[in-house]
Amino acid sequence: MKSKILITGAAGFIGSNLCDYFVDRGYDVVGLDNLSTGHIANLNDVTDNSNFSFIHGDIRDLETCRKAVTDVDYVLHQAALGSVPRSIIDPITSNEVNVNGFLNMLVACKDAGVKKMVYAASSSTYGDSTSLPKVEDAIGKPLSPYAITKYVNELYADVFYKTYGLNTVGLRYFNVFGRKQDPNGAYAAVIPLFIKRLMDNQSPRINGDGTYSRDFTYVDNVIQANEKAMLSVHPEAINSVFNIAYGDRTDLNHLVELLKKSLSRFNKEILEIPIEYGPLRVGDVPHSLASIDKAKKILDYHPRFDLATGIDEAIEWYWSNL
Ligand code: NAD
Repeated sequence: MKSKILITGAAGFIGSNLCDYFVDRGYDVVGLDNLSTGHIANLNDVTDNSNFSFIHGDIRDLETCRKAVTDVDYVLHQAALGSVPRSIIDPITSNEVNVNGFLNMLVACKDAGVKKMVYAASSSTYGDSTSLPKVEDAIGKPLSPYAITKYVNELYADVFYKTYGLNTVGLRYFNVFGRKQDPNGAYAAVIPLFIKRLMDNQSPRINGDGTYSRDFTYVDNVIQANEKAMLSVHPEAINSVFNIAYGDRTDLNHLVELLKKSLSRFNKEILEIPIEYGPLRVGDVPHSLASIDKAKKILDYHPRFDLATGIDEAIEWYWSNL
């Protein structure tokens, strides 16, 4: 019999993609989400599957976490309040969800004897470190409340391994994008936001001069990392954190060119839309690029989708779903 997996943040961007993938492969999947930033419609492809069940609940409630981990083998913990600006405006809620909620999940996993908890960490943990590429052991000081919460997760996971023997793996995601990522709202990520603006014939607005760069990572690479981390029996994969990225960086001006080129397959006029430039945002680091050597070596992680391929796939989805 296939293992049972709990995916928290199941109705969100990454969580729902993980649900689709693992249900499709015959796993018994439980999704947990409070629908604060996620959408139930993201789970449309799995809701009718008998291998899938959904709990509408909040990780800030320990009893909900305990119920969710019942008979579960593995947890893929994605639930959190994302976005640096959101955490700057409301650090208390970000901390309650991302730290208290995370701690509840650790306690529930430990008490239920879960085999492994793989959790979404973040490249924001590199903070003010300017070295490139980012290597797991060399972090700087956090630049936002969000970054603090994600770093605290790593510290708690380490202590739960050392103190209680709970197996954990942290995946530091770098700017993930792909189908089902929300293009709406004040805290939308740059790729879905720009795709929506361009599809609406509006200029994408870049904060700064467009030379800031990121290691944009297609969601299917992140799915691969979660599967490999979950199933790895490599001793160095336990109680460890890994950069999960493509391992290349692209500046925002070039990103817009790639988006326009891909969208022009559907509407040639999009090529003519100019970029708007605005002031830089507080808490943004100029450049981000991951070394993925550790994940390659220990998890056997090999990202298959580069930025251009991922953008083409994502845009096909947005074009027929927005
Ligand atoms: P998302 O907002 O689409 O998904 C998060 C999900 O968690 C949402 O469905 C939301 O409703 C749910 N949630 C929030 N608070 C909850 C609570 N108290 N109880 C239960 N569910 C709750 O975000 P995402 O982009 O899919 O991110 C998933 C994870 O990956 C997060 O932990 C995020 O911090 C991390 N991450 C994402 C990126 C990225 O580029 N998308 C980068 C680094 C880290």
